[in-house]
Amino acid sequence: MFSQVGSQQLSGVDRCPHCAIATPLFYRVWFSETAVTRRDNGASSTWAAYACSSCGSIVLAQGYPTPGQYADYNTWRVIPEAKNAHEDIPQPARRFLQQAMDTLHAPDAAAVMAGAAVDAMLKQQGFADGSLYKRIDEALASNVLTRPMAEWAHAVRLGSNRPRHADADNPHVSAEEAQQSVEFAEALGTFLYVLTTRIARGIEAANQASTD
Ligand SMILES: [Zn+2]
Repeated sequence: MFSQVGSQQLSGVDRCPHCAIATPLFYRVWFSETAVTRRDNGASSTWAAYACSSCGSIVLAQGYPTPGQYADYNTWRVIPEAKNAHEDIPQPARRFLQQAMDTLHAPDAAAVMAGAAVDAMLKQQGFADGSLYKRIDEALASNVLTRPMAEWAHAVRLGSNRPRHADADNPHVSAEEAQQSVEFAEALGTFLYVLTTRIARGIEAANQASTD
């Protein structure tokens, strides 16, 4: 799945989990010479740290030890994993959210897509009329959003509007602002769909168990 190019680089990662740039160049900054010892009888792993040449963030590679070789040759897991929009989030919100996650290296694009994801989720919840501004306030009035969530949603909306309307004073969104917008869109998707679906499944399983 993953491979090391001349043991100095890590390949096979589709996107950097931090900045989401495609086919990132990860260069090694540290590795464990051997498998790291442990006392609980579990399988030992080798570890290496790689830096993304685009955003400078680090990923950890966990590997199987290979006798006589640098351990990171057999990487089976890269931490953290790249972000994925959960399958319980309905379309088109899910696709907007995925595009927001995939464009974090281009903050304006990510902020606009995060705004579109929030907009699509609120429309799907039945707040179809008017602007996103109105949708957020209606969702608050209907207790679909709490007040802090509505405030955060408005911040995402404003971040999305600046590049969209080429704001004269402040057209661009910072990487941190884009990250926050994507985090909110993801959290809202988790709150509205992922948790709801998980709870429904849990109730169904409990009912099933009580009738058995
Ligand atoms: Zn990166």
